[in-house]
Amino acid sequence: MEEYFALSLWIWMGISLIPLVLLQFIKAPYGRYSKGKGWGPLISNRTGWVLMELPALLVYPLIVLFSPLAMNACHFLFLGLWGLHYINRTLIFPFRTRTRGKKMPISIPLMAMFFNSMNGFFLGYGIAYMFPGQYDLAWLSHPQSMVGIALFLCGFLINIDSDNRLLNLRKPGETGYKIPWGGLYKWVSCPNYFGEILEWSGYAILLWNLPAVSFLIWTIANLLPRAISHHSWYKGHFADYPPKRKALIPYLF
Ligand code: NDP
Repeated sequence: MEEYFALSLWIWMGISLIPLVLLQFIKAPYGRYSKGKGWGPLISNRTGWVLMELPALLVYPLIVLFSPLAMNACHFLFLGLWGLHYINRTLIFPFRTRTRGKKMPISIPLMAMFFNSMNGFFLGYGIAYMFPGQYDLAWLSHPQSMVGIALFLCGFLINIDSDNRLLNLRKPGETGYKIPWGGLYKWVSCPNYFGEILEWSGYAILLWNLPAVSFLIWTIANLLPRAISHHSWYKGHFADYPPKRKALIPYLF
């Protein structure tokens, strides 16, 4: 059974090459790249965000909580960190965006729901059924786990801080774009994506299993092309855009 699980995951990770390559040519049509037609009926931006993130919030925790797994503090920590991110992303972030009147095509939340359900399934099924005895209190005292937790929390803070800076750029009623400043915007155009990638890198180090690595790879496949698009969009729209700012990774890229 474990071999089939691992094989499915390798196939699933291979599939992540599709968005990674396609998104170099096609910009996912939400936010600044939103299009009026061609991607299905339009729904409100806010509804789209809640819908697309709901499977991420629910699938993984529900699989674990309703499994026969004898849960310990380690499992609760894994779910707690997950919840910390996804309660914000699903139930708080969409209601803080200043995107009044903006829409996204239904195909975006549908694709994201599929991606989030698959990743949630692999993470939950892995912990509850594939490696039920792997995680115990001793796991948390490994230096590797501490590095993972620290990286996750660091990424979470960067992600929240950077999203906050973006959300505060608009006054109530505004929907346009400005150059973001402060925090890691000093170095990169998309520190929110950088923070998110750090978070899931930390999570993969903490769990040290294939589903968590797969989730990280899918996150990079989505966010790397979007960071490249945002960076060139900023440079194309603002003549005074800071020339030394990189796209995603400070000083490097
Ligand atoms: P963006 O940076 O494109 O936008 C975030 C919010 O800020 C939107 O409400 C956007 O409005 C607004 N905004 C962005 N830039 C500006 C600007 N220059 N001036 C004024 N307002 C601005 O992020 P995404 O919407 O792509 O993602 C939001 C969060 O979700 C991020 O934290 C990201 O890490 C996470 N995410 C995670 C994914 C994953 O695979 N794990 C995939 C996608 C996102 P508008 O919508 O009008 O552009």
